[in-house]
Amino acid sequence: MKFNRVIVWFRNDLRVKDNVTLNKALQSGKEVLPIFCFDPRMFDKTELGNPKTGFHRAKFLIESITDLRENLRDLGADLIILQGKPEEEIIQLAEKYEVQAIYFSKEVTAEERNVDNSLEASAWAKGIVTESFWQSTLYHKDDLPFPVNQLPEVFTQFRRSVEKMSEIREEYPTPISIPYPGTDVIFSSGEIPNLSQFGLERQNSANNSALGFKGGERAGLRRVQSYFWEKDLLRNYKQTRNGLIGTEFSSRFSAWLALGCISPRTIYYEVKRYEKERKKNDSTYWLIFELIWRDYFRFISKKHGSKIFQIAGIKNQMDSWSRNQNEFKLWCEGKTGVPFVDANMRELNQTGFMSNRGRQNVASFLVNDLGIDWTWGAMYFESMLVDYDVCSNWGNWMYVAGVGNDPRENRYFNILRQGKNYDKNGDYVRFWIPELAAIGGFDIHQPNELSTIELKDLKIELGKTYPHPMVEMEKWV
Ligand SMILES: Cc1cc2nc3c(=O)[nH]c(=O)nc-3n(C[C@H](O)[C@H](O)[C@H](O)COP(=O)(O)OP(=O)(O)OC[C@H]3O[C@@H](n4cnc5c(N)ncnc54)[C@H](O)[C@@H]3O)c2cc1C
Repeated sequence: MKFNRVIVWFRNDLRVKDNVTLNKALQSGKEVLPIFCFDPRMFDKTELGNPKTGFHRAKFLIESITDLRENLRDLGADLIILQGKPEEEIIQLAEKYEVQAIYFSKEVTAEERNVDNSLEASAWAKGIVTESFWQSTLYHKDDLPFPVNQLPEVFTQFRRSVEKMSEIREEYPTPISIPYPGTDVIFSSGEIPNLSQFGLERQNSANNSALGFKGGERAGLRRVQSYFWEKDLLRNYKQTRNGLIGTEFSSRFSAWLALGCISPRTIYYEVKRYEKERKKNDSTYWLIFELIWRDYFRFISKKHGSKIFQIAGIKNQMDSWSRNQNEFKLWCEGKTGVPFVDANMRELNQTGFMSNRGRQNVASFLVNDLGIDWTWGAMYFESMLVDYDVCSNWGNWMYVAGVGNDPRENRYFNILRQGKNYDKNGDYVRFWIPELAAIGGFDIHQPNELSTIELKDLKIELGKTYPHPMVEMEKWV
C-alpha cells in the first residue's frame, strides 16, 4: 500500500515561521516527515586541521535543533534526527516509510550542491520526487531585475537596482498544525547528539557566555522583540553598529540568520512595523541595508560558484601570499602583540562572535600587514564563528583581501587609527587582554611606546607577559 507522505529536510532553515519548504509540504495535503540530518562532513577538519564546525556553532546548532523539535511537537509533528550522509540516510528513511517526495531548501555553494545532486540522483533512481525551494534571502532570486549570471559586481549597483525594481515577497504563514504519522508508524524520532559526540569539549572560559544568546527560532524571535521593541535599540542602530563592547550595539541576528532560525523577511516586516508604529529613520533603513549586503554575497556566491573559495578569488588575482604558519598561529591565538587585533581574536576564540568592526580589522591585518593567505583566515573564521555563513564569510574575506567585489583597490585598515576611533579609552582591549589592563587610556593600544620603567611599574614585561608587536606599529602613527 502506498502512503501519501512527504519529507521536509531541514537544513539552514531551522524554523516554522516563514518557511517555504514546510509550507509547500503542507499544501501538498500529505503527511509530513520533518527531518534533520547530522552530516559527519559538517564536522570534518578544515585544511588547517581545525574542526569545520567548532564548539560555539555546534552548540548553537544543537540548541536550534532542540528548539525546532519542540516547535514541531507543539504543531503535532516531530523532528526525526538522522546521522550520516543525507543522500543515503534520507533515501533509506524515505523508502522505509514509503515517502513520495523530498522537499528541501536550495543552497548555492559547492559542498551543499554536491549533496543535493547526489540526493536527487538517488531519489530519482528510486522513483522518489525531489523539490527544492529558494529561501534565505530577503529578495527572492526570481524577483531580481537581472539574471544571477548578470549580477553587478559592485554592491551599490546591485542595491540600487533591487531597491528600485524588486519587491520583497510576503512571509509564508506559520502553520497551525502538521499532519504526522502516528507512533505506530514512527516509534522513535531519534536522539539529538551532544557536543562530545563530535569531539567538541565544553570550553571552560569565563567569558564564553559573552555572546549571551541561545540558538533556536524562539530565542531569535525574542531577540527581535527585545532589540526593536523592548529596548528600542533599532532607533540608534546606525550610530551604535560599530561598537565593540557588550551585546546591544548591533542586532546580533547573524547566528539565527545563518542557520535560518529567523528569516530576513521576518526582520524586514518587523522593521516596517517599527517604522509605522515608532520611528522611521536612517537606522531603520540601515538594518535593511545590511540585510541587502547579506543577499548580495549569497547571489555573488551563486554567480561565481567555487571561485569564492579559491585563492585568486573572482578577480583572478595572482597568488603572492605568505604561508608562514608561525605568524598565522599567533594571529589565531591573539598573540600578535597588536592589542586591538589580539583583543578581537580572543573575543572570537572565547565567544564565537566578533563585531563587524573587529572582523574588518583582523582580516585586514592578516592579509595586508602579514600578507598571509586570505583563505586561511576565512577557514579559521569558518571553524570559530557562531554565525558562520558560507557566503557572507567567504564574500567578506574576498572583499577585504582585494580579490572580490570591491571597487577600491586597497582596503587597508590602520589598526591604531581604528583603535582611536572605536576604542578611544582602550576599554575593549582592557576587557579582553587582562595582562595589559593596568595601562590607562588609549596607551593600552601601544604598550611598546611605554618605557621599560613605566611597564615595570605596571608589572608588564613585553616579550614575557605580553608579546612584542610582530609588525612595526610606527607605520600607523
Ligand atoms: C572578514 C569577515 C567575515 C565575516 N563573516 C561573516 C559570517 O560568516 N557570517 C555572517 O553572518 N556575517 C559575516 N560577516 C559580516 C558581519 O561582520 C556580521 O554579519 C555582523 O558582524 C553580525 O553581527 P550583527 O548580527 O549584530 O550585525 P548587524 O550590524 O546587526 O547587521 C544585521 C545583519 O545584517 C547582515 N550583515 C551585516 N553586515 C554584513 C556584511 N558585511 N556582510 C554580510 N551580511 C552582513 C547580517 O546578517 C547581520 O546579522 C563577516 C564580515 C567580515 C569583515
